[in-house]
Amino acid sequence: MKFIDLQTQYRRIEDDVDRRIKAVLAHGQYILGPEVTELENALADYVGVEHCVGVSSGTDALLVAMMALGIGAGDEVITTPFTFIATGEMIALLGATPVFVDIEPDTYNIDASRIEAAITPRTRAIMPVSLYGQCADMDAINAIADKHGLPVIEDGAQSFGATYKGRRSCGLSTIGCTSFFPSKPLGGYGDAGACFTNDAALAKLMREISVHGQDRRYHHPRIGINGRLDTLQAAVLLAKLDLFPEEVESRARIGQRYIELLEARGAKPAGQGGDLNTPAVAEGNTSVFAQFTLQVSDRESFIEKMQAAGIPTAVHYPVPLNRQPALANAIGETPVSEAAAKRVVSLPMHPYLRDEDLTAITETVSQAAVG
Ligand SMILES: *Cc1c(COP(=O)(O)O)cnc(C)c1O
Repeated sequence: MKFIDLQTQYRRIEDDVDRRIKAVLAHGQYILGPEVTELENALADYVGVEHCVGVSSGTDALLVAMMALGIGAGDEVITTPFTFIATGEMIALLGATPVFVDIEPDTYNIDASRIEAAITPRTRAIMPVSLYGQCADMDAINAIADKHGLPVIEDGAQSFGATYKGRRSCGLSTIGCTSFFPSKPLGGYGDAGACFTNDAALAKLMREISVHGQDRRYHHPRIGINGRLDTLQAAVLLAKLDLFPEEVESRARIGQRYIELLEARGAKPAGQGGDLNTPAVAEGNTSVFAQFTLQVSDRESFIEKMQAAGIPTAVHYPVPLNRQPALANAIGETPVSEAAAKRVVSLPMHPYLRDEDLTAITETVSQAAVG
C-alpha cells in the first residue's frame, strides 16, 4: 500500500500529459512559455479571482506575496505554529518576526478568537494556513484584519480546491498562495506554486518580484527573486487540471467514508476526547483532505503496528514551528499546538483509494489505536 498514489492518476491522463510536454519540447519556450499564461488564466477562473501569478513553489509564493506587501526587518506577521516550516521560514527570511497564535483543537487551524490579542504596532499581516485541506475561518480573520487595516495572506498550500462558505480557497483574502508540489491535492511533476489576488496593483508587483523585480527587460525598480513557474510544470498542471474537479470530489467522498468507518469503530471527532480522533470538518467547509490526519494516544506504538501491517503513515507535524531551533526567536506560547503535535498521525490519502482499501486500513487503525 502506498501513502500517495501518483501512478494511477498518470495512467488516466498519460496521453494528455505526454502530448502537452511534447508541445513544449517542440516550441522550446521553457521559460514563460504560452502554457504559463494559459494555466494562470485557468487557475484564476477555477479559484474565482481576477489574477493568478504562477511561481516556482509554494514557498516562493509566500515569499513573493510578503515582498509585494513590503514586509521586512522589524515587522511582525501573525501565523500558526502548526504548519510546514515554509510558513514561518519565509517570514523570518525577510527579517520579520513570526508571531505564533494557537490553533483550534478540532480543525488545527489558527484560532481567530486569539488573533486580536497578538496584534501590535509592528504587525504587518495575518497569515492563516488552511491545514490538511480545509480553510481557516477566513471571514472571522478578515474582519479582524479589516478593523486593524492589515492584509491577509492565506497559505493554501494544502487546501487548493477546498471551499469555504461556497467560495474557493486562495480567493478568500488579500492574497492566496498555493503549492503544486507533487503530493499536494493539485501536484505537478516537480516544484511549482501560485499567488492569487483581486488586486491588480498587487498582481503586477508579485509578477515583477517573481522575475527579479523587473518591470521591463533589464530594468529593475526593486529587488525580486528568480521565482517563475516552469513552462513544463505548467503543461503538466494543465493536463491535471482537467481531472482535478473529479479528484476533489473523490477526496471528499473518501475522507467522509474514512470518518464513517472509524467512527463506527468508536473513534470520536477531533476535540472531543478519547484515544482515537477523526478529522473534524467545520460547518461551511469542504475539505480536499491533503492529509487525512488522526489523533492517537500512543503514536509510537500505533505507527509500529501500522507498519507491521504494511500500512504507511506520516506525522504532519511532530514539532510546532515555535519549537524549531531556526525560529527560536519567534513570539508566542501555543499549548494546543504542542498537544496536537504529540498525537497527530496521517493515513494514506489519494483519490484512487478503493473501498476495500479503506475497510482494511480502518480495521487495522482501530486495532492499532487500542493499548
Ligand atoms: C507544502 C507547503 C508549503 C510549501 O510549498 P512548496 O511548494 O513545497 O514550497 C507551504 N505551506 C504549507 C502549509 C505547505 O503544506
